[in-house]
Amino acid sequence: MALTLYNTLGRKLQVFEPVNAKEVGFYGCGPTVYNYAHIGNLRAYVTHDILVRTLRERGYKVTHVMNITDVGHLSGDNDDGDDKMVKSAEERGKSVLEIADFYTKAFFNDTRRMNILRPTVVCKATEHVGEMIALIKRIEANGFTYQSGGNLYFDITKFPAYGELALLNLDERKVSGPEVRRTEADENKRNPYDFVLWFTKSKFENQALVWDSPWGRGYPGWHIECSAMSIKYLGDQFDIHAGGIDHISIHHSNEIAQSEAATGKHPWVKYWVHNEFLIQDKGKMSKSAGTFLTLQTLIDAGYHALDYRYFLLGAHYRSQVQFSYEALDGARNARKSLGDRIRALAEKAGALPGDTVNLTGKAAGYLEAFNKAMDEDLNTPRALAELWGLLRDQTIESADALAAAFVMDHILGLNLAAEAQREENRGTPEERAEIEALIAERTEAKKAKDFATADRIRNTLKERGILLEDSPKGVTWRRI
Ligand code: AMP
Ligand code: ZN
Repeated sequence: MALTLYNTLGRKLQVFEPVNAKEVGFYGCGPTVYNYAHIGNLRAYVTHDILVRTLRERGYKVTHVMNITDVGHLSGDNDDGDDKMVKSAEERGKSVLEIADFYTKAFFNDTRRMNILRPTVVCKATEHVGEMIALIKRIEANGFTYQSGGNLYFDITKFPAYGELALLNLDERKVSGPEVRRTEADENKRNPYDFVLWFTKSKFENQALVWDSPWGRGYPGWHIECSAMSIKYLGDQFDIHAGGIDHISIHHSNEIAQSEAATGKHPWVKYWVHNEFLIQDKGKMSKSAGTFLTLQTLIDAGYHALDYRYFLLGAHYRSQVQFSYEALDGARNARKSLGDRIRALAEKAGALPGDTVNLTGKAAGYLEAFNKAMDEDLNTPRALAELWGLLRDQTIESADALAAAFVMDHILGLNLAAEAQREENRGTPEERAEIEALIAERTEAKKAKDFATADRIRNTLKERGILLEDSPKGVTWRRI
């Protein structure tokens, strides 16, 4: 079995073969921390997480690098619009760094709740301006830049492969340029597709963060940060780069141009993985537009963060997904049934299986089908169907089914072992029977108005860490 990935560079499925045998360098574009991540952004990070988990299950040592954009990202990806960080700081009456710090924490709180593994390296743009300047110097020394209106630009005519990733038409691109240019042209650019490497004469006079550079005091363009940080942590050539499809035409095309212009090595990145968008009824979900759903919105509405993870796994990462609360309800119900099944199996199996169980027979068959689905460009909907097939198959020993499900969950990340332990926490069948008997005794005592006995039973259980809760439906208990 071999892992195949759809490579945007070339637009085809390819067998994954890393640059260095068993080690994988992976860079996923991280958040611009001027606001909360919306649930569309979280789709991108779940995609990265599934990819990383799959690679690790296949035995690769993965270095996952994620940038935190805290400088230089304008609301238009092609150097137009406002500076996102500065605008947000002004609106909220805080400093740019305070805003960055607050939303970075909020971001990792969201990803933790969604069981997204923390990247191996998390790097902030503001802490890597030195590396960016060094990389821009290499690009300049190789003859790919020009200065105009105080800014330093990348000249795409010097880089013939420009736009290969986005399948841009060479002739067309000279005439029209990216869509955003139509609204706000930068007079300093020789070609509409040229982009800023370093801003000095900013259109933002109140730019909060500026650095000295060979081109004057200013700040870096947005694209250069991803090139500088990925090259720093993963080397001049590495395996996989990911992001949402919106980044293909500008951000990633520019990243390739400037990285290869600096290093002279081609290809800079072997595989480009792009997730499709999550859309709302109203169309694209956008942070800049102001109205968007966050993970907290879903949690406040009574959903668990993993309900949303399950919802996302139900679609292939390259299909567009429409968000709706009805669909999220479906995911919640399915995840609940999944938990029920896992608990029932755990109860039947007695002890929870370890990670090293050697599976044979039908359980192994489901696991193989699961792995095949994941190997075919991370087909999570099919993989989920294999998990369900396994759990519904009455002919499989509980311990084997559970063991196979836990291995699948290394990739799915639905916390199935915790679900099973929830049942284990409820004690052995004998202990549970004893607790139920004491509860029945207490109910009888209350009926007979023997409140002293009823209280004594309640307190004895409490001393053992078991709390009784009376409700109209009867008495339930939980551990405290
Ligand atoms: P940003 O914080 O705007 O730089 O975006 C972070 C990541 O989310 C990038 O990889 C984007 O491509 C991705 N993204 C943005 N909007 C969506 C969406 N609606 N659905 C899926 N991915 C998205
Ligand atoms: Zn990036």
